[in-house]
Amino acid sequence: MTKVTDLIAIDEAHAWHPYTSTIGRDPVYPVASAHGCLIELADGRTLIDGMSSWWCAIHGYNHPVLNQAAKDQLARMSHVMFGGLTHEPAVRLVERLVGLTPEPLRHVFLCDSGSVSVEVAIKMTIQYWYAKGRPEKHRLLTVRSGYHGDTFAAMSVCDPVTGMHRLFSGLLPQQLFAPAPACGFDATCRDQDIAELNTLLAEHHRELAAVILEPIVQGAGGMRFYSPHYLERVRERCDRYQVLLIADEIATGFGRTGRLFACEHASVAPDLMTVGKALTGGYLTLAATLASAEVAHTISSGDPGVFMHGPTFMGNPLACALANANIDLLLASDWRANIRRIEQILRDGLAPCARLPGIVEVRVLGAIGVVELEHPVRMREIQRRFVDRGVWVRPFGRLVYLMPPYIITDAQLAVLCRAMVEVLSEFGAA
Ligand code: PLP
Repeated sequence: MTKVTDLIAIDEAHAWHPYTSTIGRDPVYPVASAHGCLIELADGRTLIDGMSSWWCAIHGYNHPVLNQAAKDQLARMSHVMFGGLTHEPAVRLVERLVGLTPEPLRHVFLCDSGSVSVEVAIKMTIQYWYAKGRPEKHRLLTVRSGYHGDTFAAMSVCDPVTGMHRLFSGLLPQQLFAPAPACGFDATCRDQDIAELNTLLAEHHRELAAVILEPIVQGAGGMRFYSPHYLERVRERCDRYQVLLIADEIATGFGRTGRLFACEHASVAPDLMTVGKALTGGYLTLAATLASAEVAHTISSGDPGVFMHGPTFMGNPLACALANANIDLLLASDWRANIRRIEQILRDGLAPCARLPGIVEVRVLGAIGVVELEHPVRMREIQRRFVDRGVWVRPFGRLVYLMPPYIITDAQLAVLCRAMVEVLSEFGAA
């Protein structure tokens, strides 16, 4: 076993972590193992996980059922190409996803990561209009404060200002941006809340392939919640102007907001949907783009007659087997009541944050608790303080939030909330 100090030194010399510099970077914490909701650091400390490893480990770590599913599948095959071959894990998964998602979604394209599933969705909408003899309909419309991934087409629909992709803006396809939805989760969407989006649709629908949105919860672009009524009105306008609707459920899918998919808050059926993150319970990278029969058949019957995409690891059997086991586990549980339990504890536990100096807002929806600050956090320091309190919380910018695994206990959640209140009160006072 490599000594912890050597591990850190080698990591610092060669490993490039997400959104970091290779020079004078913030410390990283070596992990020895993880079980349930606990992350065990190599130095012996144990942290309660408030992040679900960027929102995917919904059943926690080292789950016996998921471990067994991986072992069973490994004994059969880890991988086999999806071109010209198929297998039970993928077939069961696509059937499952079609059954769980809104009615018009019938065809599932399995891919490697959330960003790729967004690329695939965008490509499908462009190919759809091309097949219909409308190649000029190739632009996207979205709202500000959105986040859809780090690859180029996905970046082009991330918030152009607050997003993390400003530097590339001249190189990206030029998309259209309406203001972020201003009506909160419980509000009605007034005409003025959707006026600019409406105007953009009216003026540009002839060149628009699709509107892309994160339904109800905008994640990494601002951790904002908005009204289901807004989503309904967007759907209505997409129909009126003949523009497809892509729902990016990568962060919201599989129960996180209290519904299996966030679109269900509004009974809205998109033309395309992307899912990822919690799909395999955080065990392996896998995502999917679902398309309606209308989208799939139009692409397939137009020139060139096939959808132009096919990643090497598409439909990876091991990842599909884990996704099946993960979904079985979720649906066998009383997940709705469980998310309500987490929501209530987050509401009670984070409420004191609202009274601290430097706090803009505390908001909770499902198993998501967000504290928005006036100023960006000092990452190195706040991270250390959370770790010192035995919790894993990874803020970004002005947002400190909790999205714990669904198996978290009341007591563990109380520790996480207390740590939030204590650390943020120290920061506000500083
Ligand atoms: N879309 C949404 C809504 C996301 O939250 C993310 C990741 O945070 C992505 C797309 C990109 O997914 P990935 O990081 O798996 O590429």
